[in-house]
Amino acid sequence: MITSKTVLVGLLGHPVGHSQSPLMHNAAFAAQNLEFAYTAFDVAPDDLKDAVAGIRALGLRGVNVTIPHKVAIMPFLDRIDPLARRIGAVNTVVNDQGQLIGYNTDGLGYVRSLVEEMKIDLHDQAAVLLGAGGAARAVAFTLADQGVKQLKIYNRSREKAEFLAEQLKSIAAVKTIGPSELKAAVEAATLLINTTSIGMHPHVDEMPIPAEWLHERLIVSDLIYNPLETKLLRHARQAGARTHSGVGMFVYQGALAYELWTGQPAPTELMRESVLKRLEG
Ligand code: NAP
Repeated sequence: MITSKTVLVGLLGHPVGHSQSPLMHNAAFAAQNLEFAYTAFDVAPDDLKDAVAGIRALGLRGVNVTIPHKVAIMPFLDRIDPLARRIGAVNTVVNDQGQLIGYNTDGLGYVRSLVEEMKIDLHDQAAVLLGAGGAARAVAFTLADQGVKQLKIYNRSREKAEFLAEQLKSIAAVKTIGPSELKAAVEAATLLINTTSIGMHPHVDEMPIPAEWLHERLIVSDLIYNPLETKLLRHARQAGARTHSGVGMFVYQGALAYELWTGQPAPTELMRESVLKRLEG
């Protein structure tokens, strides 16, 4: 129930019409009897500065930030958490009595989901990361911080992969690879992570590497959660690999934001169920 005491949080993006975040967060607030409400704001790029001023003026407790604002919002905030600064993007803002602080929960959400669901030790993992966009940066910094054994980064635009690898090389064994090295790298890997948008709805018949390269010694992880099982994950499963979808990352990046806003542990199982019900339904 919304009352005059309700604390508002929301999502800034463009577009936002397909976001599962309002459903997931409002289900969690209701389950924990918190007087919070979450709504989605479709903010055109030219209006972002005014929208951030609105967070302060209207006293929102915070927002999530999605495409295309994750980088553009940074100059309008008062402080950026060090991890978000290194990633170069913000996906969560907390309004601390008028001070707007930017965080990035994408990478931590991803790694928490990967480690919990696959029951692995990152120190044993030789990973191949496909992509070098915003999500890849969050994932790569967090994997490196948490001690992944080895990270090979492949991206269509190699200079973006080089830029990311350069920033990571002091904390992890990381290198970039080109198209001719990718097959051998996948063959030798224990973990393959797709952070590109290849295979995402509506392009569900696409996959980022040939199906024949997949093998049973791999964990194959796809950041995409629509569809829940991408073509990559379907072929990986058929090849005997273990698979990990993007839904866990989505739930945990949201759960970490929820905890920053409310100070309460998030009901992650309920959040996952609410998202799965919508995606499967
Ligand atoms: P982004 O910054 O735009 O990066 C897109 C990446 O995909 C880049 O590496 C890009 O390569 C690559 N790419 C796109 N189309 C390609 C194509 N046709 N061939 C080869 N490479 C291609 O986007 P993002 O924010 O990182 O998001 C990437 C994916 O992660 C999306 O599917 C998104 O839904 C997913 N994601 C999931 C979660 C979650 O909670 N599960 C959170 C964030 C993102 P270039 O650099 O060469 O352009």
